[in-house]
Parts: sequence; structure tokens; C-alpha cells
Amino acid sequence: MDLRYSESDEKFRTELRGWLKQAVPAHGDPPPTDDWDGRLAYDTGWQRRLYDAGYAGINWPKAYGGRDATLTEQLVYYEEISRAKAPYIGVNFVGMLHGGPTLIAEGTDPQKAAHIPKILKGEEIWCQGFSEPCAGSDLANLQCRAVRDGDVYRVTGHKIWTSFAQVADFCELLVRTDPDAPKHRGISWLIMPMDLKGIDIRPLPTIMGESEFSEVFLEDVEIPVENLVGPENDGWRVTNVTLSFERGAAFASEMFQLQEFLAEIVKVAKRVTRNGAAVWDDRGVRREVGHLQAELDALWAMVKYLVSETAQTGMPGMRASAIKLYYTETYQKVCELGMRALDRAALARDDIGGLPNQQILYRAMQSISLTIAAGTSQIQRNIIAERILGLPREPR
Ligand SMILES: Cc1cc2nc3c(=O)[nH]c(=O)nc-3n(C[C@H](O)[C@H](O)[C@H](O)COP(=O)(O)OP(=O)(O)OC[C@H]3O[C@@H](n4cnc5c(N)ncnc54)[C@H](O)[C@@H]3O)c2cc1C
Repeated sequence: MDLRYSESDEKFRTELRGWLKQAVPAHGDPPPTDDWDGRLAYDTGWQRRLYDAGYAGINWPKAYGGRDATLTEQLVYYEEISRAKAPYIGVNFVGMLHGGPTLIAEGTDPQKAAHIPKILKGEEIWCQGFSEPCAGSDLANLQCRAVRDGDVYRVTGHKIWTSFAQVADFCELLVRTDPDAPKHRGISWLIMPMDLKGIDIRPLPTIMGESEFSEVFLEDVEIPVENLVGPENDGWRVTNVTLSFERGAAFASEMFQLQEFLAEIVKVAKRVTRNGAAVWDDRGVRREVGHLQAELDALWAMVKYLVSETAQTGMPGMRASAIKLYYTETYQKVCELGMRALDRAALARDDIGGLPNQQILYRAMQSISLTIAAGTSQIQRNIIAERILGLPREPR
């Protein structure tokens, strides 16, 4: 597929850049990370702006209200929103990047009609109820039980690490509908409204002092059977659809942000002095920046490949795992370099001497979680070994 930009792509870029130039400053600065009311209003407000301007769901089909942009327009979009430092997708992450796409691929017409337009407009926030205390890497081990009772499933169980649970309207919930079937075969994927009786959300504070995710306890929660996505007990297949979206082009715009972040670190290295010389004067540091830049270029080539594959097949393939692994580990290396560039200033949590300490420290701490969230690095390596390289499966 030809991924060079055409005249019409450049026209699209000019229009988008012009819109972002006024829309980004008009939207203002983001609220503090633990101001959940503020974050909800900020993130959903930005999603609404995108929708009103015709840029929401850039790769979603037109039939579902998306823009259905061409492949190269999608790449231009990711470049431009990053260049303009547009607001992050934030609390819309689950709905826009994997809940909505899963419904488009697997949902019934009434499910799509009920949720897709609202997700696109920022009117419906989703969270993901997959992980449990004994089901993370081994997700198919999940025990949350759903028992059919007439028109409802009665659901009881314990979910953990549920990002955005406290602000979500709906949850993509994995439950066990057949405890006697082999573990991958007795799972179902349900849409759970978060305001049902029997749901108890307990936020978990992170190393950054925020409550990004929560434990969610479910006690005899009644979920309508019509909220089942895909056939009963076929939820493992639907889960893999969700995970491929979660690990795939979800990283495209963040890739550019990482490029910008590396450029910021270079500026820091030029300002901070160590033993009378700028950190940037250290040849080793400059070599490291060169290597990281090359890694980011390689990653961008991989993202282009995946976006192209997704455009052809409708779904990201197994290479999504390679991108997830490479992106998150490169992110950590960039953050480590940032901490070293700050030198002594890395001890301060607030910005000092005009240096962006807060941002670098925040990212460095957050980067620890990236190689765990959405499947750990070890699990991505297993997937790459077994399903891309065709190596023998790990012993069970
Ligand atoms: C920031 C963040 C946000 C998250 N958000 C959500 C969310 O919204 N919803 C949700 O459902 N979950 C969420 N998670 C949970 C995430 O999916 C799990 O943490 C992850 O799948 C790992 O599971 P675990 O924590 O149970 O670790 P475990 O599975 O217990 O793994 C522990 C260690 O053992 C290693 N390991 C396990 N099995 C193997 C194996 N077969 N081969 C080699 N090594 C192995 C792992 O790589 C890891 O290093 C989030 C996690 C983070 C960090």
C-alpha cells in the first residue's frame, strides 16, 4: 500500500491544522489529574469538539458516525493532533479505542445504535472489567460468575485495576457463564451499566497519588441478557477482538507525543550542567538520543504497517503485540534518559529553575505501569514467539 501523502492528504492536513490552531487553545489547560469531575468535563468536552468538527472516530465507518478517513489521512491526523499538543483521549480511552470498535465488530444492531453515537460524542464513558485478582496474564482464569435467570444474568465477582471505573457509564465485563466448560470456552462478554444495584467501586491510589483505577465488587448484579455481545460462552473470541484493538493503533498518536517528549529532553540536556559542562556535551548522551530517535522511526514504520493492515482487514493483527512491547519499552528508555538529563533536579517533584521536572517525573513513574497494562511485556513476548514466529507453545 502506498503510504506517501497525496495532494488531498495535504489539503486535509491544512484544514485539520487550521482547526486545531483555534480549538486547542480554546479548550484550555487540563485540570489536575485527581480532579475527576474536571477531567470528565475536559476529556468529554474535547471529544464533543472533535465530533462537532467531524474528526471524531477518524477510522470508524461513516455508517456509525465516524469519519472513515483514508489510511494516509489517519496518519496525518495522528501527526497533527500530536503536533498541536491536542488534549489526550483520557477517560474516552476504553470507549473510543476498544469498547466502541468491539461493538462495531461484534455487537447487535440495537447495541450499536444505543452506544456508538454516544461514545463518539463523549456522552458515554466506558471502563474495562477484565482483570481479577487471579486473572491478569492468565485472563481466561477469570471467576466472575454470571448465572442466567430469565431475562437477566445475575453477576457476582471481583474485578481489579479497572481504569476510569469511578466515572464510567458502562463496563465491558468478562464473566464466566459456564463453569464446567474448559476455561477458554465458558466466558461471555457483557455490557454492564455502571449504575446497577450491587456494584461497589473502591478506588486504588497509585504511586503518583492518583486513583486512576479501582477495585470493582459485584454482588448479585442483574444485567439484561440483551447486553450479551457475541454468543454466550464465545466471549474469549470477542475478548481477543477487544485486545487486538487495545494493543494496536491505540499507540499511534502517543508515538508522536513520545517524539516531542524526546525533543523536550534534548532541550533539558542542553540547559542542565554537570561538572561545569552541559549534559548535552556528553557524547554518550547524544549517541543515546540518536539511537532512541532511530527506534522511534522504526516504531512509526511498524505503526504504519499496522494501520495499513487494519484498514484492509478491519482489525489489527498479531503485530499489535510487537508494537505494544516495543513502544512501552522504548517509552521507558526515553523516560530514563529524561531523569538522567535532569541530573540533581530529578530529586524535585516540582518544576525548578524553569525545568519541566513535573512532566518528566510523572512520565517516568507512569512508564513503569505501561509494560504491565494491556498485557505484560512477558505475555507480548509469548504471543510474538508463538503466534508470529511460530515457535513451540509454552508448556501449560
Ligand atoms: C495502568 C494499568 C491500567 C490497567 N487497566 C486495566 C483496566 O482498565 N481493566 C482491566 O481489566 N485491567 C487493567 N489492568 C490490569 C492489567 O491488564 C494486568 O495488570 C496485567 O494483565 C497483568 O496481570 P497481573 O497484574 O495479574 O499480573 P500477573 O499476571 O500476576 O503477572 C505477574 C508477573 O508474572 C509474569 N507472567 C505471568 N504469566 C506469565 C507467563 N505465562 N510467562 C511469562 N511471564 C508470566 C507477568 O509478565 C508479570 O511480570 C491495568 C493495569 C495497569 C498497570
